[in-house]
Amino acid sequence: GCDTAAVAAAVRRAAAAVAEHRDELVDLDKAIGDGDHGENLKRGFGFVVSALDSADPGTPGAVLKLVATTLISKVGGASGPLYGTAFLRAATAAGDSAELDLAVVLQAALGGITDRGKAVAGDKTMVDALAPAVQVALAGGDLTAVADAADQGAESTIPLVARKGRASYLGQRSAGHLDPGARSTAVILRAFAAEGG
Ligand code: ADP
Ligand code: MG
Ligand code: MG
Repeated sequence: GCDTAAVAAAVRRAAAAVAEHRDELVDLDKAIGDGDHGENLKRGFGFVVSALDSADPGTPGAVLKLVATTLISKVGGASGPLYGTAFLRAATAAGDSAELDLAVVLQAALGGITDRGKAVAGDKTMVDALAPAVQVALAGGDLTAVADAADQGAESTIPLVARKGRASYLGQRSAGHLDPGARSTAVILRAFAAEGG
């Protein structure tokens, strides 16, 4: 189940995965952005792990809120506020409940990103990974199915022309590259899905 300990463990796995994929995310962002995405996220999730080590959040929602406030205060660029808002909305949706409802929190996270960043499907952003993942969760899919959908959604950004964020400055030249934020969303959801660790 998605109780407090399980959610904290999932966040720690996400931090480890982001660190592991740091160079890949930097290279993706070098191709169509400014090359900082992997470092931004690695650093931010490093602070998240420190925060989890020193605090003892009592509910899944409190874990998500700690992630949110840490990312918002420590990560710059586009992705910090976007991921921060996603976790903040997820925390609000979780409320005080002892177990998370996957579809409810993922849908709230997506709403936070789209409210904040105004991206729609096909704009070549993290929304292209998260939106199909939310659809699978709403249809009753488990975290592995959700992560599979995010992977496919991220891959689908390759031919797209970016309409949001730095990559949009490249216009047609943004086509032919995987969007770094879509990739990091897929990496994070895959880490959430992994058992143990
Ligand atoms: P920056 O572009 O400020 O350097 P990052 O490199 O950390 O920030 O993050 C870039 C990623 O942020 C992009 O690959 C894209 O997925 C995502 N992104 C940028 N703008 C938006 C937006 N308006 N809505 C959703 N996602 C966005
Ligand atoms: Mg960048
Ligand atoms: Mg930047």
